[in-house]
Amino acid sequence: MDIWDKEKRSQVMSKIRSKNTRPEMILRKALFARGFRYRVNDKRLPGTPDIVLPKYKTVIFVHGCFWHGHEGCKHASTPKTNTEFWVDKIITNKKRDKIHTGQLISLGWTVLTVWECDIRHNFKRDLPRLIDNVEAAILRGKSKKISIKIYEERENEVVLVAEDIVEYNQNPSDMKTENH
Ligand SMILES: [Zn+2]
Repeated sequence: MDIWDKEKRSQVMSKIRSKNTRPEMILRKALFARGFRYRVNDKRLPGTPDIVLPKYKTVIFVHGCFWHGHEGCKHASTPKTNTEFWVDKIITNKKRDKIHTGQLISLGWTVLTVWECDIRHNFKRDLPRLIDNVEAAILRGKSKKISIKIYEERENEVVLVAEDIVEYNQNPSDMKTENH
């Protein structure tokens, strides 16, 4: 028998959830354990990305399936009441996400989206595989742009004579970790 009544139980459970199993915390810990260092909730960047990896010029959003309208996801179903209100809200969120992604990409960032359902459900028992995918996407982001600078020394000054950015043929949609 439960030592708590129903109300107390749900209080306790929600506390545990918010402290230890919040999806972005899980992802952060896993990435940290693999040696990645990051900033969190960086307000200086569009959309305040959840995880920012400056070394890899990559940001990661951990999106709640409901709030960010994860298409085709069973964890993103719209409530039966007040449907119009929620649909409006989610459409607005999605538009905003798209704008932020566009801004970040134009600033040279690689944008990765990890959906909560992957952390909470789909990969719950095989989290290392999900993290493998995220890691691969981060490393791909780094290899995408290699800046080659060629300097020439002229009397007392160093002049940049050429700067090539080699871009590999990468489709940004490949970067998303949307394995189901
Ligand atoms: Zn989802």
